[in-house]
Amino acid sequence: MKKICKSNKLEGVCYDIRGPILTAARNLEDEGHRILKLNIGNPAPFGFEAPDDILKDVIHNLPTAQGYSDAAGIYTARVAVMQYYQQKQIKHISVDDVFIGNGVSELIVMAMQALLNDGDEVLIPSPDYPLWTAAVSLSSGTPVHYRCDEQADWFPDIDDIRAKITTNTKAIVLINPNNPTGAVYSKALLEQVIEVAREHSLVVISDEIYDKILYDDTQHHCIAALAEDLFFITLSGLSKNYRIAGFRAGWLVVSGNKLIAKEYIDGLNMLASMRMCANVPCQYAIQTALGGYQSIDDLVVNGGRLKEQRDLATKMLNQIDGISCVAPKGAMYCFAKVDAEKFNITNDEQMILDLLCQEKILLVHGKAFNLKTGCYFRLVFLPHKDQLKTAIERIGNFFSHYKQV
Ligand code: PLP
Repeated sequence: MKKICKSNKLEGVCYDIRGPILTAARNLEDEGHRILKLNIGNPAPFGFEAPDDILKDVIHNLPTAQGYSDAAGIYTARVAVMQYYQQKQIKHISVDDVFIGNGVSELIVMAMQALLNDGDEVLIPSPDYPLWTAAVSLSSGTPVHYRCDEQADWFPDIDDIRAKITTNTKAIVLINPNNPTGAVYSKALLEQVIEVAREHSLVVISDEIYDKILYDDTQHHCIAALAEDLFFITLSGLSKNYRIAGFRAGWLVVSGNKLIAKEYIDGLNMLASMRMCANVPCQYAIQTALGGYQSIDDLVVNGGRLKEQRDLATKMLNQIDGISCVAPKGAMYCFAKVDAEKFNITNDEQMILDLLCQEKILLVHGKAFNLKTGCYFRLVFLPHKDQLKTAIERIGNFFSHYKQV
């Protein structure tokens, strides 16, 4: 029989957050070990419950949600998303500008599939949420990573963005608030990005899935609200702000200069139709979520669970000799730097594997986020404080005697 190989399209496509180390963790579990998984931003297993009114509404609508919906999504959900961005000051948007998807993940792939031709370049932050790089590669584009500067609170380096633009550059991606760094970009920075995009006619794509998870009174600015002459794609959803990642409910909004993007929008509509529609029962969660009580606000203020966990994780990581971490202003991750020289580290993935084997804690190594230099890891600070404290003590214990061979 002939061997069945993966398609050439998957050459260069990788998503290491759920890569080989997860397999190693599963093997350890099969041997009977308990692994503390701080590798995925999935709030529910850590006791973050969905707001009650969302569950009630989904259950209430279940009997009438048995058929396909409109390919772009149910009307009430799209109206709610439209209103949300009107409140965030995006001008001239209508229901037709909103596409509901099975999570932001599906929409990222659709957005790239509809946009890219062979060799089109897309500027992507480094470090990034790696689905962006993977989706560009899968869509036969070329991901070009721009530097985010740890010394400048992980803000994008505008000079590096400029230096990486070529005649093939089609779009720039922002992840704001950022995964993995937790950076939340200032209005001034976003205005600089707009200036560059304007000079080079770039599509501006902004992944804002953590836009309500903000600490220390940090304000989130939606870049699409800052200009009307460029074409913008904004994405967000319910997985993080409303803690219902399993519902797979997300949205994509097109705005700004839609006239220049008519064909692209037609392409998006076609891709949306090809997959019929997003999961209908969970589309009912969107209006209730956006229009209901914003319980996320209680989690991120002083004394709120997420804020306390963010403070504890940042403080404890910075107390470990050889580890440092810029305090995240948003999202649910600490992205920590490891002094590679001190621990003789040449392979960050091996470091995470060694930590897993010795301490039974699962993190993600920096290179998985398309960061080519330095040694880093990402820790999800979703566990309750007691468990988080024990976990970081164990990480400290690991580094107190670690030397890579
Ligand atoms: N974008 C970013 C920046 C993320 O961190 C994630 C998930 O971790 C996603 C998109 C995907 O989210 P969804 O659950 O909506 O597919």
